[in-house]
Amino acid sequence: MDIAFFGVGNMGGPMAANLVKAGHRVRVFDLVPALVEAAVENGAEAAPDPARAVSGAEMVISMLPSAQAVEELYLGEAGILSAIDPASLIVDCSTIDAATARKLSVLAGESGRTMIDAPVSGGVGGSRAGTLTFICGGPEAAVERARPLLEVMGRNVFRAGDSGAGQVAKICNNMLLAILMAGTAEALQLGVDNGLDPAVLSQIMAESSGSNWALKVYNPWPGVMENAPASNDYRGGFGVKLMNKDLGLALQSALDSRSSTPMGALARSLYALHANAGNEALDFSSIQRLYASRGA
Ligand code: NAD
Repeated sequence: MDIAFFGVGNMGGPMAANLVKAGHRVRVFDLVPALVEAAVENGAEAAPDPARAVSGAEMVISMLPSAQAVEELYLGEAGILSAIDPASLIVDCSTIDAATARKLSVLAGESGRTMIDAPVSGGVGGSRAGTLTFICGGPEAAVERARPLLEVMGRNVFRAGDSGAGQVAKICNNMLLAILMAGTAEALQLGVDNGLDPAVLSQIMAESSGSNWALKVYNPWPGVMENAPASNDYRGGFGVKLMNKDLGLALQSALDSRSSTPMGALARSLYALHANAGNEALDFSSIQRLYASRGA
């Protein structure tokens, strides 16, 4: 398939590389030339500008940092929406607010084009390994059309509902993850402050009713889990900055729908505090340090 791919950063770079590996023709465009060069080394073609990237493309994929960047790409001064072949499918994999995702899909629809939202879960590791989870929003037929390509880059492809639903499901999940991570860190600190071994406590809770993914797979206490970012000075993994972004999107969504999200709001404040203390670049499990009264 002929694919145009926008945004070959931490996530998009490996995703584009996996499409090339599967035999697709991929033209990439990014604002950072060095990232385009890296994609070319992995077998993609460099597009000189966004319009030429989409020329002849059967599928257009974007993986950008923010809603503003996505709006700019499709609708800005040199916006590509009108240059895209109406027969091709547009798949935005960026994590953005649901309202912007809906607006884009409506505008695409009004111009005779189809656009779905397909944010991902699984991080940079999942992107490299081709094991991402795609959480799609849009017409069923469009999601099914995208599925074979998404399955090249990921292991699971879900349809959460209509346009914007993928974004809503993604931020619900990440809000819950932040709450679970903060709660897990809090419980571990309480145990350690009262003389428990964090590894023993983790083992007990993992087999008890407090068990959760943050505790079992991504333990925030250094040394409990060899391969978790906590055991590597909280390097790698999913950054505090990105978690803050997703919590902000969750709270914005809660305001829009007048939902009560007290735990999400608290998690957002904890992560903002943690980020402002200079921890933005660390993995999100480093929230453990916020609780550390006697060393974590
Ligand atoms: P990144 O900053 O590494 O990559 C984004 C790329 O988009 C950059 O290279 C940037 O130059 C490029 N870009 C910006 N505007 C552009 C434009 N108009 N045209 C072409 N390229 C443009 O970010 P990332 O970590 O790859 O994240 C991408 C998206 O995936 C974000 O929305 C993020 O929230 C989401 N996400 C990230 C992770 C993660 O672990 N990094 C996990 C899940 C979801």
